[in-house]
Amino acid sequence: DRHPEPQYEPDPSKKTLVVLGTGWASVALLKKLDTENYNVIVVSPRNYFLFTPLLPSCTTGTVEHRSIMEPIRAILRHKKAAVKFYEAEASSIDPDRKVLKIVDNSEVKGATSETEIPYDMLVIGVGAENATFGIPGVREHSCFLKEIGDAQRIRKKIMDCVETAAFKGQTSEEIDRLMHMVVVGGGPTGVEFAGELQDFFEEDIKKLVPEISPRFKVTLIEALPNVLPSFSKQLIDYTENTLREEKIDIKTKTMVKNVTNETVEAEVAHPDGTKERVIIPYGLLVWATGNAVRPIVKDLMSKITAQKDSRRGLAVNEYLVVQGARDIWAIGDCAVAGYAPTAQVASQEGSFLGRLFNNMAKTENHEARIQELSSKMNLEAGNSAEVAQEIEALERKLRKVKDIKPFRYSHQGSLAYIGSEKAVADVSWWNGNLATGGSLTYLFWRSAYLSMCFSTRNRVLVILDWLKSKAFGRDVSRE
Ligand code: FAD
Ligand code: NAD
Repeated sequence: DRHPEPQYEPDPSKKTLVVLGTGWASVALLKKLDTENYNVIVVSPRNYFLFTPLLPSCTTGTVEHRSIMEPIRAILRHKKAAVKFYEAEASSIDPDRKVLKIVDNSEVKGATSETEIPYDMLVIGVGAENATFGIPGVREHSCFLKEIGDAQRIRKKIMDCVETAAFKGQTSEEIDRLMHMVVVGGGPTGVEFAGELQDFFEEDIKKLVPEISPRFKVTLIEALPNVLPSFSKQLIDYTENTLREEKIDIKTKTMVKNVTNETVEAEVAHPDGTKERVIIPYGLLVWATGNAVRPIVKDLMSKITAQKDSRRGLAVNEYLVVQGARDIWAIGDCAVAGYAPTAQVASQEGSFLGRLFNNMAKTENHEARIQELSSKMNLEAGNSAEVAQEIEALERKLRKVKDIKPFRYSHQGSLAYIGSEKAVADVSWWNGNLATGGSLTYLFWRSAYLSMCFSTRNRVLVILDWLKSKAFGRDVSRE
């Protein structure tokens, strides 16, 4: 149905609810929220939702980037009451005046590119940025893997390295450097990307550029003694063995300290306690060392006394209210609620808050109606029995909606792709845990991610991409 988006007309009798971000947390909230209860405004520099679990597959073209994006306007169009969307970044929040500043940082700017929005209620779902720990050279020389633009940059750079290595008369040393793909961070992002990259090499690059392909090498660097620290020991061992079989060089207990345009400098901790400084030349460097707090969140934290001891983001209570703030909630990677920064947690928090807001609106409506009926009962004594009955029914309903349990995360399990059509899974099974790895787990991984895709459109596109890359090979043209 292609009916036009309904007009957004703010109702002065309703509260203005501003939602920041269009990621896992905010979109889950918007999906659950009954938008008729509030004047809803969404602000995000990204006018789409991104299905991050398949982002590593976009770096090699196994999946095309548009297949995992869903326009926010298409999502909002299906809401009962219209929602306003501004493609902008929130640059500061004033919790006392209850206003926020928004800025259009996109390429095209109009005469107005900065303004203020007042709010009655504010939800912060801005996610996190990439951690660099202040290590010199990281921002200038490496690629991150968080947004669509990052995946596109990596895809382009892999092929640029390969084509430059194949250039006539290229020196042997330079071929080795250019064909060396270094991944820093052995968390799930680094592991999944390394696996995808090795697949790309085995299934496509090897056939297309056979003369230099033996020089292609993937190295995964991790500061801790093993990769995937959040998975069970059995799966860590399985992953490390599989990655080694795939010829990925795993360097654990190796901490990167400095990055230049062609090398990574790292410190290796040896078993005898000594430390060695090593220099590793690279062609492509992907930096995946986890999350850091966004400036907008840091700025707000500095304005709230109760947040002064919080380091990883906005400390929230069990109803996801930002500690020490009035009418501000935080969800997803920017909130510290005691859970890991994952899509699973973010979407459950978003859904919880959507339900909480629906209940809050119902409570207010019931209370207002009870008030109205009580004064009516005082005025018209005639039908007081009927009115009293209605009041009683409403009070029963009110008790029910007011009885909101605090947020509790329900962990469904962890899944990661590790290359060569194998995946690992730590899943809750009946009352226990199941840790599995291999090709069957890979089929499970594919079907689980497919079922989690945002829309049928996304699902169909992803299936077509998988079929296409299997049948014709990945597209290696450098855009
Ligand atoms: P995000 O999804 O990052 O969304 C943040 C939103 O806020 C974005 O729309 C952004 O544009 C917007 N924003 C940023 N700054 C501002 C601002 N100043 N004002 C307004 N809006 C702003 N988790 C899993 O559970 N399973 C997985 O398989 C998995 N795979 C992953 C793979 C990769 C490559 C990556 C990077 C992450 C993966 N994760 C996975 C983690 C998961 O993506 C995050 O935990 C999740 O995205 C957090 O959701 P969020 O809504 O808090 O943030
Ligand atoms: P992460 O925080 O999980 O891992 C980062 C790794 O980088 C750590 O193991 C850390 O020891 C290492 N590191 C940090 N500094 C280093 C340095 N200087 N040199 C070498 N190694 C260094 O980060 P991530 O993998 O980006 O994941 C972020 C979040 O997203 C996590 O919560 C993760 O669970 C989630 N995620 C989940 C999946 C999945 O479930 N399949 C996929 C991707 C991300």
